[in-house]
Amino acid sequence: MSKIGILDEHLTNMIAAGEVVERPMGVVKELVENSIDASAGKIEIRIVNGGLDSIEVSDDGCGMDKVDATRAFERHATSKIHETRDLWSIQTMGFRGEALPSIASVSKVRMITCDGTDSTLVRIEYGQIKEARPIAANQGTAILVEGLFYKTPARLKHLKSANVEANMILDLVQKLALAHPEIAFELYSDDRLKIQTNGSGSLQEAIMAVYGLEVARKSIPISFSDYDFRVDGYLVSPVITRSNRQYINVSMNGRIIRSLPLQKAVIEGYRQFMMSDRFPIVVLNITADFQLVDVNVHPSKWEIRISKEKALYSLLSENIEKKLKEATRPADTLLEYSRSETAETQPAAELSIPADLRFEEQQMTYTTEETLQRFNYLAQYHGRYIVAYDDENIYVIDQHAAMERCMYEEIQQQIAEKKVDCQPLLIPLVIEITPAQMNQLDRINEMLECINLKLEPFSLNSVVVHELPVFIERDEEKFIRELIDQITNDREMSVLDIRKEKIASMACHASVKFNSFLTVEESRRLLQRLSRCAQPFNCPHGRPTMLAISDRQLDREFKRV
Ligand code: ADP
Ligand code: MG
Repeated sequence: MSKIGILDEHLTNMIAAGEVVERPMGVVKELVENSIDASAGKIEIRIVNGGLDSIEVSDDGCGMDKVDATRAFERHATSKIHETRDLWSIQTMGFRGEALPSIASVSKVRMITCDGTDSTLVRIEYGQIKEARPIAANQGTAILVEGLFYKTPARLKHLKSANVEANMILDLVQKLALAHPEIAFELYSDDRLKIQTNGSGSLQEAIMAVYGLEVARKSIPISFSDYDFRVDGYLVSPVITRSNRQYINVSMNGRIIRSLPLQKAVIEGYRQFMMSDRFPIVVLNITADFQLVDVNVHPSKWEIRISKEKALYSLLSENIEKKLKEATRPADTLLEYSRSETAETQPAAELSIPADLRFEEQQMTYTTEETLQRFNYLAQYHGRYIVAYDDENIYVIDQHAAMERCMYEEIQQQIAEKKVDCQPLLIPLVIEITPAQMNQLDRINEMLECINLKLEPFSLNSVVVHELPVFIERDEEKFIRELIDQITNDREMSVLDIRKEKIASMACHASVKFNSFLTVEESRRLLQRLSRCAQPFNCPHGRPTMLAISDRQLDREFKRV
């Protein structure tokens, strides 16, 4: 007897709901994206109890006529694509015609929509149309979703507390608002206003509304492009960090996306400016030819496939690093580390931008050279810090971090100029390696050629080194072993990576002694070396090299103003 049957529509909708709208956040995403597709200028979102009790999304978009108002809830009903080739150039957020029928199959939905001519109300409960009639309404669409998943207890059980669900929605709406500064968003959670943007089109104003004045003030505008991609947005100065990646906002053609590789590219750009366990705040809106992105790879469209992703990766990380180098300067970077509570009297986030927020251009004219040339040595403190001053600040410089930064840049330069000095070892160094590493010995040697380091086979599981670069002053064996591990663990690592970053960043560790007392002359020389660095404010691993206390702050602390 045959066993295969065809599932009925209600069941298929419920199954689709499982992937399209896993949780309240997914419902909000689908509804808001529909509003964006309807060219809304304003979108209001109201959630109760984390969306578990109700979710309402209202917009002032194009609305639907009375036929579409019910048709929208049929499976695969969409106004957005019509034929196969449309699938290769999707410009709208939606296109699968799945969201509304899926949502309506697992909740009670009430929709009021007006296209300027027809005004219609439709009510659907768990997949069944209960009511459809004319009603008085303003232009646009309002969709209310209640009792989500009440009839799908297995799903209900998987949801987190209302609080967690509400936070996910908050995060989502923040991202949507940042990807669409031209739309005014309002989010209310249990009747409390959580987010409000003005839809003026200014991304900096949206950033202020979402993350507050302090973050907006510290944002640096950036835009760059290559033949395929154009990137516009803001980098928040690395003095403000977060403990997770949630604040790295990347959108592609107006679509908010989750892309690990692109997040990594951003982090890579910030690497030298930030500790490795901290993450930046970034808002980047990427535009690309619609043909280059395949958005049809994930049911809720969080993930996309990007052709030429590698090129985009380097474009991002290189331009971000370059911009941060240009834009960080001590008075801006350093005061942050030493700012006291009393200085923390910034006005709360407002929607209008105060005049002093518009000063990015002038910040950048202040070059690092000028600033650091003015360093005057004062004293060494506890064998760890150097105290110095200039016209505006007192500086406390972390000797060790400063040395690391100097060594890092000096070694990078030696590598770039192919001028790495070597000295023979009195006793050759024998290093044990694994058979797998032995198999990659040629590759390892190719990578290490730039610092004149050569590993020769010694036995079945060991290699021998006869000569070392002079800059390695201690922990030679550990240094070489780490290099070998890094190269063999990361098969994607290129000769360029290793030349540009890896060696220098590891070598500076091996070349700096801890807590050594410096003479006045040595301290002065260190300050000079530091002032020649391209990026003097952080060690290569992201730690700050110095903090500054301004005259202004001293006056404030001593109650002179
Ligand atoms: P999709 O967005 O993939 O087309 P949906 O199920 O989300 O599928 O929506 C079905 C259709 O309903 C859309 O194609 C659109 O024509 C219409 N629609 C949905 N929401 C709105 C809205 N807020 N304003 C106007 N039309 C809408
Ligand atoms: Mg949709």
